[in-house]
Amino acid sequence: MEQLVKKYAKKLSSAGLAEETGPLSPLVGGIDDTLVWNRKGEEIKVLEQIFNGLNINSLVFLRPKAPYDKIIGFLAREAIHTNGLIEPKDCETRTFLHDLPVVNQFSTDKIINSLKRRKSVIVALEDTTGVCDIAVIAHGTVSPEQGFVVTSSVCFACFVKFFTDYLENLQLGRSTREENTLFDCLAPDLHPNLAPGLTPMTLEPMNLPDLAKGPFLTEEQIYAAIVQAGRKTVEQGLVDSYFGNISYCRNNILYISQTGSSLDELEGCIDPVPLDGSSSAGLTASSELTAHLETIAQTHCEAILHGHPKFSVIMSMDCDPKRKAICPHKDRCHIHCPHKRFINHIPIVPGEVGTGPTGLCNTLPKAFGKSSHVIVYGHGVFALGKNDFSQAFATLMEVEKNCRRSYFEKVRKLRTADFID
Ligand SMILES: [Zn+2]
Ligand SMILES: [Zn+2]
Repeated sequence: MEQLVKKYAKKLSSAGLAEETGPLSPLVGGIDDTLVWNRKGEEIKVLEQIFNGLNINSLVFLRPKAPYDKIIGFLAREAIHTNGLIEPKDCETRTFLHDLPVVNQFSTDKIINSLKRRKSVIVALEDTTGVCDIAVIAHGTVSPEQGFVVTSSVCFACFVKFFTDYLENLQLGRSTREENTLFDCLAPDLHPNLAPGLTPMTLEPMNLPDLAKGPFLTEEQIYAAIVQAGRKTVEQGLVDSYFGNISYCRNNILYISQTGSSLDELEGCIDPVPLDGSSSAGLTASSELTAHLETIAQTHCEAILHGHPKFSVIMSMDCDPKRKAICPHKDRCHIHCPHKRFINHIPIVPGEVGTGPTGLCNTLPKAFGKSSHVIVYGHGVFALGKNDFSQAFATLMEVEKNCRRSYFEKVRKLRTADFID
């Protein structure tokens, strides 16, 4: 357990979510025979009482670093003054977290009450100027990995929510001064060349990793290539926690990452699934197995890489809010968006996780007509490679850059128009 709590504290800092050392670095605790923590900390006194009030074996206490501290602080303050919840609409939140409760005291009772209902709680301590000091807490019943996954997802969901809401509010002419201020404060770090009022865009150089070249002829080569591509996808921030999936098809067998596996640790977590359904290996395979199978059948590509890059998810949710207001499916764009949408020719499709009639396995493969990559509403990007992951990886990065550029460009135009009015 001592190794595990240290491992997941480190993963939070390598993911850019927290400081690596010092009083703001993550606290991760887990019970073996006794309760062990990755480091000492004054918060532990309160956190240990949470173990007494819940049937859990581990806890993660994350003080998110920039930009997540400011973003979650902003959303948490709104939540404290309304219904006590942050309600992101992306797919990770919908399928996994539901909503994010916020409490305004570092109080054992309040934390326990929230964690009885949900996988996480955000503690937001507001000072006299209205700035919130933030911590994200999540528990695990099996392993500290659960708390790691949840706290990472909370950061992802809040990031996506702030930028999605901001763009929508600008389009509806109802953005607030606080939102504008926060955006201006975050923008230079996210896209130095595109902050409002600054010089026009220049393309950043692509930092493409050197991935194994296909076609891969042996199982050994296939496993190694999948492991490598998965790890690089996480390292480049194109997916968080244990989301995303990856597959390679060879000789009528689809090699696919298992459900609940982390893309940066796929060794031993890849299932070979025969295309003829002759084996039950698919049972532990990714929940997107059917979508992968259908896509392979439709496109005859061998490699599929799926990540959740943030600005692709944000731009996918930018269904015109004025049009949406009168749309019968307005809050169900993720299932039924009736509008054919593209970002720079990249198709955006609705689709639920799983295999129902509105499931990804039906919406996704069809969308790979002219494009080798598709964005799923509020969810992420699926990119194809002919016989290795280089092209798919390059595409995933390019799509994200495209979407980020489009986002800042759209905000700049809306703000300039606003200024001229
Ligand atoms: Zn996904
Ligand atoms: Zn829509």
